[in-house]
Amino acid sequence: MVFWNSSAGLLAEGDLVSLSAGLRVEGGKLTDSVNGAGHQLMAPADRALMLVAMPADAGVWLTHMRALGMSQQQASQIISFLNRIGALRISRPLSAKLSVLGGHVALLINGTRPILLTRRLPLSVFGLAIGATLALAPVFAASIVVMLLLYGAGIGNGWLETIATTGGFALWAGVFAHEAGHAIVLRYAGAEGAVLQQGMRLGIIHGLLERKLGIACALAGPAAGLIISVLALGWAAIITGRHELWALAAIMGAFHLLSLLPASADGQTLRRHWGKRGTQ
Ligand SMILES: [Zn+2]
Repeated sequence: MVFWNSSAGLLAEGDLVSLSAGLRVEGGKLTDSVNGAGHQLMAPADRALMLVAMPADAGVWLTHMRALGMSQQQASQIISFLNRIGALRISRPLSAKLSVLGGHVALLINGTRPILLTRRLPLSVFGLAIGATLALAPVFAASIVVMLLLYGAGIGNGWLETIATTGGFALWAGVFAHEAGHAIVLRYAGAEGAVLQQGMRLGIIHGLLERKLGIACALAGPAAGLIISVLALGWAAIITGRHELWALAAIMGAFHLLSLLPASADGQTLRRHWGKRGTQ
């Protein structure tokens, strides 16, 4: 696996790079039509970004950045910044995806945390479903490994399967419903939005909302996540007669409520809109 130097460990040989949907370089600025943000670019960063207005080979792009007089560190800073806002679209063949995964594992073993690609997905049922699946993939992979180990040790039996599969399904449904809750309010408000997924982090970026809609949007996610995970697990508990599932329902419900804490994203949004009282 070969990562390109100066790509912050994000770009690999054979990658095609372009800017994500909604992003445009214009008059020295990178504008994001999804949330209305305008990022001022210092020369020659503007020209470097214009090179990926159309899909470009990652190696050729980095060579051009060098030709524009950029140091390896500057190129890497630009790539990290683009990745933070989900601006990079990387098209990579499946075989290369697998070797990138292997490359990340090798980095982790060496004690280096790899930078994970931030994906910008459409704010649709499909985009939310893909986002929830990718964000939860490590949890699912880990629980499959644990299940196999338990079975190997002869500990596994019917209840383990029931808890793990219903728990996994409810977790996915709860995360999907949480983001869908935010998305439904955005759709109602007529606001643009996009799903951002990086590793196990999942969120939605969107334009400004007026106070009431902002509060509704921040509350709708945790509320929908709580309701769906409790309903799914409660229903499974009744059907299977497994009372442990009620405990799992309480844990997952609490997990969605935690996102309303001031330190969490939804909590911060809520506080920001709440603070506008009296000024509007
Ligand atoms: Zn949320």
